[in-house]
Amino acid sequence: MNSLASRYQGIVCDLDGVVYKGTDAVPEAVPALEGARDLGMRIVYATNNASRPPREVSDQLGSLGLTLTPADVVTSSQAGAHYLAGELPAGALVLAVGGEGVALALREVGLRPVRTGDPAAEQTEAVLQGLGRDVTWTDLAEAAFAVGRGARWVATNADTTLPTHRGLAPGNGSLVAVVRAAVDVDPVVVGKPYPPLYELAAAVLGTAIPDTLAIGDRLDTDLAGAVSTGMDGLYVATGVSSPRDVALAGGSERPRFLARDLSALHRPYDEAQEADDGWFTCDGVRARVADGTIEVDGDGGRDARLRAVVAACWAAADAGTDLSGIDDSQWTQTQEWMERT
Ligand SMILES: [Mg+2]
Repeated sequence: MNSLASRYQGIVCDLDGVVYKGTDAVPEAVPALEGARDLGMRIVYATNNASRPPREVSDQLGSLGLTLTPADVVTSSQAGAHYLAGELPAGALVLAVGGEGVALALREVGLRPVRTGDPAAEQTEAVLQGLGRDVTWTDLAEAAFAVGRGARWVATNADTTLPTHRGLAPGNGSLVAVVRAAVDVDPVVVGKPYPPLYELAAAVLGTAIPDTLAIGDRLDTDLAGAVSTGMDGLYVATGVSSPRDVALAGGSERPRFLARDLSALHRPYDEAQEADDGWFTCDGVRARVADGTIEVDGDGGRDARLRAVVAACWAAADAGTDLSGIDDSQWTQTQEWMERT
């Protein structure tokens, strides 16, 4: 049987929680992605983080052992700049709010980034708002003035929080909400979970959407984005969303494929199959939801356990079972079973 990777021509891969966590590589990620490259697959790394330019991201990934160039990194700043390039004449003035990556992306597509304080800021035709550590009240006010007089408003992403080593910090969505409180329109958002970033990534790969696999750790961005773009998504349990989150996910966030980590790319994909009495079986294990509790059985691999439990929960939810009655201690037991090696 063919490996999961061999079913696709290209991969759009998330970064944080998939490739690295903090400064460390996620276990299995680097050999799996290099192995996919060796098979001739194209890989683009797509990030909602708008502040860093692609070169900085590719340098970081290279230091972890991945083979890539800055052209293999696609940011939400670039997706925003591409969107605006399709809406505005070449050379149009755009207020750049955010880190270095925002202005750079605008320049790459032939638009003219303008910073707060530049006299030209009063004539901008659009605002591209991304995260930056040095964004000030003055920048947000300038964005509000521009949007208020009718400039187009594009937000690179709407993530309300940003995970840092000290905890959650306000993300770009929180700064967008500050501007939104002063204006009467909503921004166009181009990052995940909206399609433009994934569409730009597929264009960079040169692959059709159905031949492209989106890999991510977050349901509400990476995997919801895959659903909204029509791409197959692979969830890996190495980052933000837990297996419990996946088991409780609604249809707009459900990944096509589930794996503990990226080594699954190089194995055939065993689907969970529905069997008798509500059981879902996968490679020697089975799971079902009966009388409001999760029952599990068998001793197969960790991917199989994850897939059986999630398939059973999705089927139960779709049949009208309220999974909110499954309490924390039962989830803890189920997660321990899923993770047992
Ligand atoms: Mg992530």
